Amino acid sequence: MAHSLTERDDTRVAVVCRWVMSSDPKQQLRIQRFMVAAINYGIFGGLLCYMAATGRVAQSAALQLIAFMVLSETTIYVLLRGGFTQNWNDPSLTLPQILLALAAAIWSYAILGESRGAALILLALTLTFGMFNLPPRATRQAAVFALTLLGATMIGLHLSNPTHHPASQEVIHFLFACTSLPTISLLSAQLAELRHRLETRKRELTEALDRIQTLATRDELTGLFNRRHMTETLHAQRALTERTGQPFCLALIDLDHFKQINDAHGHGVGDEVLRQFADIARHSLRETDVLARWGGEEFLLVLPASQLPSARTSLDRLHEAVRRSHLAPTVPALDVRFSAGLTEQRPGEPLEATIERADLALYEAKRQGRDQTVTG
Ligand code: GH3
Ligand code: MG
Ligand code: MG
Repeated sequence: MAHSLTERDDTRVAVVCRWVMSSDPKQQLRIQRFMVAAINYGIFGGLLCYMAATGRVAQSAALQLIAFMVLSETTIYVLLRGGFTQNWNDPSLTLPQILLALAAAIWSYAILGESRGAALILLALTLTFGMFNLPPRATRQAAVFALTLLGATMIGLHLSNPTHHPASQEVIHFLFACTSLPTISLLSAQLAELRHRLETRKRELTEALDRIQTLATRDELTGLFNRRHMTETLHAQRALTERTGQPFCLALIDLDHFKQINDAHGHGVGDEVLRQFADIARHSLRETDVLARWGGEEFLLVLPASQLPSARTSLDRLHEAVRRSHLAPTVPALDVRFSAGLTEQRPGEPLEATIERADLALYEAKRQGRDQTVTG
């Protein structure tokens, strides 16, 4: 991909480049493409000068064509650099640029005399450039434009000067153009198909990557983060706390008498309870809180930038929300509660120690009769 010139590049070259190409990356790309064409025009202009100097083309004719090329390129540059085309259907002006280049190639055909066969190569080259940058329909239109203009030019040349432009020679040249240009526009359709397939593949790959990402970080049953992701979150949170000194809290949550739910109503109802609990917790907690399924019917909650009193309020709110809800719609009478062990990370303390303290607090909550949060 092209290097984009940002406001931070402050070398003199970068400043000039930014001035010539603008600092908008999209504009830069358009102008870079234009530059490639402009360089080709420059080379062709040089060649015309050489031919004029060696008498292979009339000087006035060469100058007129060079003037046409300079004028058309200047107009294109002003339109692109001035940003006038940004809201147009074809902001890069690809089709107009291709049509102008085709016109210049055909013009050169008209003035090159004996060497005019070389202009047919320019035509093919220009259309090949279009093939990579235009939709197939536009490439077809450009091919039709080129053949029509070329045919008309050939007729004009033959009528005005039959000795230098014999009909047989013009017909042969025209047939050459007739075989190469439509082939290029056909290839353009194949290229578009290839591009389309590549884009589809790219989209499918991105989707697959998203799915893999989800599978790697989420718990399948509840949609909450899984233990692996939570471990990473904990390490990141600890590093943040070390850096900023801002404390965070951690709670281990365990559903009460969950085994009995499974035993009495079946594993399906147990799963339903786990899913509903995850849903309720998601709605009850703060956006910044991170909840993960730590294992079985146990969850780990991280409350960033919190101290014990506010963390406790969050857990009390969650207790209330769970008490108010039916966690198993298929068994409305089922009353599900949870116990939690809550603690605050101490500066410099290893994560294992914090989790261990939360676990002890959870054990204490169970011991004190469940359906409560104990701070450790
Ligand atoms: P306590 O109040 O002391 O926590 O008791 P409990 O019954 O909740 O705890 P215990 O550890 O005895 O039982 C947990 C049960 O959770 C046992 C296991 O079969 C069940 N369990 C673990 N994972 C799942 C799951 O994904 N789905 C279902 N339905 N049950 C699960
Ligand atoms: Mg339990
Ligand atoms: Mg348990």
